[in-house]
Amino acid sequence: MDFSLSEEQRLLKQSVRDFAEKELAPHSREWDEKQEFPREVFTRLGELGLMGAVWPAEYGGSGLTTLDYAIVMEELSRVDAGVALSVAAHNSLSSGHIFLAGSEEQKKKYLTPLARGEKVGCWGLTENSAGSDAGGTRTTARRDGGQWVLNGSKTFITNGRIADTAVVMAVTDRQQGKKGISAFVVERGTRGFRSGKKEDKLGVRSSDTSELVFEDCRIPAENLLGREGHGFLDSLRILDRGRIGIAAFSVGIAQASLEASVRYAKGRRQFGHAIAEFQAVQFKIADMATEIDAARQLVYRAAWLKDEGRDFAQAAAIAKLYTGELARRACNESLQIHGGYGFMDEYPISRFYRDAKVLEIGEGTNEIQRLVIARGLGL
Ligand SMILES: Cc1cc2nc3c(=O)[nH]c(=O)nc-3n(C[C@H](O)[C@H](O)[C@H](O)COP(=O)(O)OP(=O)(O)OC[C@H]3O[C@@H](n4cnc5c(N)ncnc54)[C@H](O)[C@@H]3O)c2cc1C
Repeated sequence: MDFSLSEEQRLLKQSVRDFAEKELAPHSREWDEKQEFPREVFTRLGELGLMGAVWPAEYGGSGLTTLDYAIVMEELSRVDAGVALSVAAHNSLSSGHIFLAGSEEQKKKYLTPLARGEKVGCWGLTENSAGSDAGGTRTTARRDGGQWVLNGSKTFITNGRIADTAVVMAVTDRQQGKKGISAFVVERGTRGFRSGKKEDKLGVRSSDTSELVFEDCRIPAENLLGREGHGFLDSLRILDRGRIGIAAFSVGIAQASLEASVRYAKGRRQFGHAIAEFQAVQFKIADMATEIDAARQLVYRAAWLKDEGRDFAQAAAIAKLYTGELARRACNESLQIHGGYGFMDEYPISRFYRDAKVLEIGEGTNEIQRLVIARGLGL
């Protein structure tokens, strides 16, 4: 068993870290305050080959492994979790669904510009009344000659207002339940398709989140993605894969809060000492470091299993659950170490603290991860 990263992986980690510190860190606070999504960052990430990280070169991708992708996600979220969330929705969810279920023609047409960062993707499963229970989808797609007609709306969609290409789930046969849900590609500019209001969020505020609305939206028959009735089943597979990236994302925020804690504890003096000299503070930081180390191994294991072509769903759910809770705990402890200054926006820990919460909700809540893990144990 070899626990070390390869030379290429170390270089990848360093280059994404350099990019994030140079091109994201100086603006993160402003993007967060203004809830502004930096579109130009996606263009730059496209130039670096990170908008189609794991897809083969024939579709404009970089052919990275899942483990490489986890390294990228950790480094992006270590600096700007909102950007990392948008990158994850674009790569793992939207592009991921096209790669997994799309025909050769669809991959060439839709995946290639997404992978190059020329276009942005979003993925719409969630609805007002269909969150954890995504099988409760109400949006419909009715066949009318050579077209599908979509009606309904999607809620909380990352990149919802800026995406050029949307992958959406809609009911094509109500009688079939979950097996009557299909996936479709809808392009920006299609009549009857618009984005709804921008959500005002607690965290990950540099990521764009909105509703998607479909009102008699007509799309060509060939925009059905994958087999009719397989949209929900394919979504579950997409979510299994997406969890590895989201788990790496959690490790990135936890790592950022650890580094912020060490920096602050060494600089802050009380009772004539740096607070880093107090054992109570040291123990908090030592616990954070221990849990982050364990969490990173869980993420790498899930990524490795997937890269080896083995069954990874259980490992991905375990990694997502553990790292999401860890990110929240680590940010909470780090904010505590910052005292009142942590409560102010002067230090980035207040942003990390707000950002971390989404990791216990998005791509399956903690409770749903526990259900997935319990099912994996035959319960
Ligand atoms: C910032 C952000 C970005 C998002 N981006 C996207 C996106 O790009 N695309 C997309 O499709 N969705 C997206 N989502 C939606 C996200 O996936 C859902 O919010 C999530 O799946 C939970 O659904 P819900 O919010 O409706 O909560 P609900 O399902 O209503 O859950 C409420 C509570 O009930 C619990 N609960 C529900 N069912 C059970 C059960 N069976 N057993 C135990 N507890 C249960 C939940 O765990 C939770 O604690 C995003 C959400 C956020 C916050």
